[in-house]
Amino acid sequence: MSGNSLSEKSLSGKTNSWKTVVGLEIHAQMSTRSKMFCACVRSTGTAPNQHLCPVCAGWPGALPVINQAAVRRAIRAAISLDCGVQRESRFDRKNYFYPDLPKGYQISQFYRPYALGGAIQFERDDGSSGVLPLVRIHMEEDAGKSVHAEDGTSRIDLNRCSSPLLEIVTEPLQMSGVEAARCVRSTRELLRWIGVCDGDMEKGNLRADVNVSIHREGDTVLGTRTELKNLNSFVSIERSVEVESARQAVVLEAGGVIRQETRLWDQDLEQTEEMRGKEDSPDYRYFPDPDLPLLIIESSDIDRERDSLPESLGDRRTRYIDQLKVDARDAESILARREFGDFFDQLLAAGLSPASASNWFRGEVLKHLNDREESIEDYPLTAASIAEVVEAVEGDRISVAKGREILQAALDQGCSPAKILAQTGEQVSDEAALIGWVQQVVDANPDAAEKIRAGDSKPLGFLMGQVMKASSGQAHPRRVQEILQRLIQHD
Ligand code: ADP
Ligand code: MG
Ligand code: ZN
Repeated sequence: MSGNSLSEKSLSGKTNSWKTVVGLEIHAQMSTRSKMFCACVRSTGTAPNQHLCPVCAGWPGALPVINQAAVRRAIRAAISLDCGVQRESRFDRKNYFYPDLPKGYQISQFYRPYALGGAIQFERDDGSSGVLPLVRIHMEEDAGKSVHAEDGTSRIDLNRCSSPLLEIVTEPLQMSGVEAARCVRSTRELLRWIGVCDGDMEKGNLRADVNVSIHREGDTVLGTRTELKNLNSFVSIERSVEVESARQAVVLEAGGVIRQETRLWDQDLEQTEEMRGKEDSPDYRYFPDPDLPLLIIESSDIDRERDSLPESLGDRRTRYIDQLKVDARDAESILARREFGDFFDQLLAAGLSPASASNWFRGEVLKHLNDREESIEDYPLTAASIAEVVEAVEGDRISVAKGREILQAALDQGCSPAKILAQTGEQVSDEAALIGWVQQVVDANPDAAEKIRAGDSKPLGFLMGQVMKASSGQAHPRRVQEILQRLIQHD
């Protein structure tokens, strides 16, 4: 039987008596420079088959060496997810055949993973805080990639072979599709925050397998689960849980049974399709990799990583929202990356209020980065130099528009905003001078003034622009507006 496109709504409320249970397996590629067991560069987006050596290309006799930078990142992840880091763990071989797996096995931690327990914190649909317990986290290596061309040929790119992965396995928990997506989202935020994984789901460096079952309220045993593999967006996680649990309800209500199987999610058709049943699932014949030693993690290793962790995302969020009173929505965009938050903190340190630091950071810095798809590491202006311009705005020495212009000019010319600020004439607030400009503009545009007097405020913007032009941008905009309105009404 293939999938169906019944939405949960078409069950006319009957789903209410069904409870959906979800368990996640989150795969996160660690952002190390080199691969898990060799010195090849962990590449992203380079030409195929550029980063290979006998170890990751699977030549017989080549010996793997554990990447300590990957282990350190794995420890950071485990600490942040509250896991118990195991002093001794071990790597095993997971044997299977696939063209993109040159060794014929994947190195993973099956019998003795390096981290046990822990939990993902997430927001429940009713706003309360939820806890999804973890079973374990283990380290493993990624496989290569098969690239299927339109002409029917397939090619193999082994660059990704042996990239370091974390697999985070959760317990099953009753939750909605939205909540499942939130669990993955909060894990992604956390891994990014501590510098363990870039979390770019479009690039595939974070993906999730989602296990779904349903049972009746009050049932003591869980239903049989199906597994949806390789979901790489929050929408697909959310929708596939909803659609798959609705499908299971239809089957059970018709007197059928759910088979334990792996299913594929089709985002366009919004349906799940059978891929393979449990009986067809491969026997991986796991056994300890004889080429790798026991991995020993001392408590001093754990302490060192704990000491080097940044202020936690949760603490930073509380500080911004509860203490600094930054709008919750705005805070989330500042918290999207730790480097953003650090820049924001530097704006505060340079003397800006939280509100103006938030406005200027989002309105200028983030906007610039988004427009150009650049990362903050490449942003040339310092927080202190931006703060100088903002202070000139807030001290009424220049207008907001002028402040923005100065920042843009500094970026365009590759110089410091201070230099341009020094060359910028101060804003004119002198009443007599302003009235002079305004009068001149009103006299030159009697029709516009007449319209405004008749109640049509549209030409106001035009007149404002003319006054700013007449003053070479030096007139204080708010005062000009006040004077404009006064003059027109009393003309
Ligand atoms: P396997 O190794 O065959 O994938 P596991 O027991 O390791 O099986 O479970 C894999 C995932 O399936 C885990 O994330 C777990 O939480 C989830 N899971 C297990 N039972 C259920 C269930 N009844 N409903 C939903 N998810 C489940
Ligand atoms: Mg599984
Ligand atoms: Zn290599």
